[in-house]
Amino acid sequence: MTKPCYQLRISSRAKHARITIKPSRQIEVVLPLGMPVREADKLVQQQQNWIKRTLARMQKQAPIMSTMPPTSIALLAIDKQIQVTYVASQKKPMIWNKALAQLSICNDQTCVSALLRDWLKMRAKEYLPDLLKNIASEMGVDYRAVSIRLQKSRWGSCSMLGNISLNAKLLLLPSEVMRYVLVHELSHLEHMNHSTVFWQYVERFEPDYRKRRRELRQLSLALPSWVHS
Ligand SMILES: [Zn+2]
Repeated sequence: MTKPCYQLRISSRAKHARITIKPSRQIEVVLPLGMPVREADKLVQQQQNWIKRTLARMQKQAPIMSTMPPTSIALLAIDKQIQVTYVASQKKPMIWNKALAQLSICNDQTCVSALLRDWLKMRAKEYLPDLLKNIASEMGVDYRAVSIRLQKSRWGSCSMLGNISLNAKLLLLPSEVMRYVLVHELSHLEHMNHSTVFWQYVERFEPDYRKRRRELRQLSLALPSWVHS
């Protein structure tokens, strides 16, 4: 058996590494925050037989034709869990019900990932500017404008003119890690470099910034697959 594909999730609440198989047959490995990512590969390797047996049993009990995109999305930064349902037919390709935290997607859509990315960007435009404003006033700094993008690798940037750009994927990070990124970018308003003085400035508002940077690197590798175009 070749090594199965799996989705990695980092949890600040998990005490041990574990594997689960969702009804969609998606294999998920949960690692406690701070555990090296390579442990996930090891675990999957060790549990290959269990995975194979469980998938076979599930296929017998409830056969499915193809694996579905996600059934839920955790917007950790704002502590919201979104249910995603796929319906046979509806007028619009995607319907967002904010009150119920439900996203309904037409299941004949071939571009579910693109729809989810558009949706994430809209949610980021809704929430990130206010979060940035609050942290800026806490730090006593002024920026000129904020824009939200969905970039591949950059979490944020700050221009010489004081324009801040934030990645919509920040909504998927735990709030303390998201906060670190916002503090980092706002600190560039005072220091346009990564000098010692810059990091001292970051530390004033984010004493655990070293830990947060490590977590950010780790979490970058564990984002849901649909966020990558
Ligand atoms: Zn920087």
